[in-house]
Amino acid sequence: MTEQLDALADEIWGYAETGFLEEKSAHAMIEVLKQNGFTVETGIADMPTAYLAVYGSGSPVISFLCEYDALYSMNQKADADRHDPITSSDDTGHGCGHHLLGTGSIYAAILYKNKLQEQHLSGTIKVFGCPAEESGSGKAYLARSGLMEDTDIALTWHPSNYNQVVTGSSQSCISVFYRFHGVSSHAAGCPELGRSALDACELMNVGVNYLREHMTSLERVHYAYLNAGGKAPNVIPSEAVLKYFIRSDTNPHCMSLYKRVNAIAEGAAMMTGTSVEILFDEGLSNTVTSNTVEQVLAQSFRRLGPGTFTEEELAYAQKYRNTADEKQIIDTLPQFAVNRSQLEEEVHHSPINISFVENTHSDLCEMGSTDVGDISWIVPTGQINTACYSFGAGAHTWQWVAQGKSSIAHKGYQKAGEILADAAFTFHEHPELIAQAKEELRQKLHGEVYKCLIPDEIKPHVSTVE
Ligand SMILES: [Zn+2]
Ligand SMILES: [Zn+2]
Repeated sequence: MTEQLDALADEIWGYAETGFLEEKSAHAMIEVLKQNGFTVETGIADMPTAYLAVYGSGSPVISFLCEYDALYSMNQKADADRHDPITSSDDTGHGCGHHLLGTGSIYAAILYKNKLQEQHLSGTIKVFGCPAEESGSGKAYLARSGLMEDTDIALTWHPSNYNQVVTGSSQSCISVFYRFHGVSSHAAGCPELGRSALDACELMNVGVNYLREHMTSLERVHYAYLNAGGKAPNVIPSEAVLKYFIRSDTNPHCMSLYKRVNAIAEGAAMMTGTSVEILFDEGLSNTVTSNTVEQVLAQSFRRLGPGTFTEEELAYAQKYRNTADEKQIIDTLPQFAVNRSQLEEEVHHSPINISFVENTHSDLCEMGSTDVGDISWIVPTGQINTACYSFGAGAHTWQWVAQGKSSIAHKGYQKAGEILADAAFTFHEHPELIAQAKEELRQKLHGEVYKCLIPDEIKPHVSTVE
């Protein structure tokens, strides 16, 4: 069966389709799921490249989450040991390993299905094809659609340099455009007639930079100019556009910070005699951790152990390990690792992580956001990482694209599939763990109800530069 899935991962690597454009990738995954006995519905939650594959019936309902979108500016030849883009193709590549992610989650679902079949057990298995993780907030729309609500436990994973159970929370994030409208005029001849949209952008950014002093340390705001008003200094620009990411540790905090940034935008418009349109783009919820699910995943990881590699594979990994400096690797080791010094030793002696990295459970909010966060508000959710790549360069690098079709990468998704399937079966055998995970989630929400950050009128879309 793994030959079919290795081929699927390689096929998706080759398509390298970006968020909401993953037609061929989704089709290839759906075919494999159908061949393995799943019934598939496509286009769920208003997303043409999303799908839901179902097998079985009754309790429990265990869902596996797939991703399969690629990144722009990540074009790279497989197995090359230097940055070597493929010529005459588009600029996309699987720099985050989502070709493995989707395939590994499908493998988990098939292994779990086989186990239920062998033992003549009932239970519902769902595989959610979740598009547009890198940009697009696919899982936020999925969470908003209500389709996750009958799921008891959601399991997923992410390709990595490490073998570990993911812990720690992530930030809520709102992505928004501020488009200023002014009046153009000759900047020397009649400046008094002009109202500069660029001035408004600059004053808004200055205002936000003063706001930073009055934000918590768990908050971040960053911006980019999408339209700085043109190239001519002697024309007062009438149009200018900023894109902002506004992040905080929880959804209510993020909404509150968003309102403060909006007030600054309106203030900048007032100061410059311009007007501002506030165009909501995307929203991601913070992650609610599940210690219960993490414990079950850790138990499966210990039981099955991390992947093992041949001499040839270790030599292959060494090529990529050599592209990073050791200090950089040590500085970015998993922060919740129980035995950090042992891991540092391993970095000295192995080009790839061959041990299971035990982590201490954490609810700390780490800087950065993921759309898994939205799912975690509704369903107890757990994630693992497996080593699919050498020590060294992390996600969104040419090194990850280059290693993406190697036997190491294949072993990584297979190991993830085995561990997730084993954890799913543990929940099947122990419904009290499902009840415990649900109670933990209820307590961690402190009475807050999931409210997607994305307003109802915003539908799934490819984020465009305006
Ligand atoms: Zn990524
Ligand atoms: Zn990713």
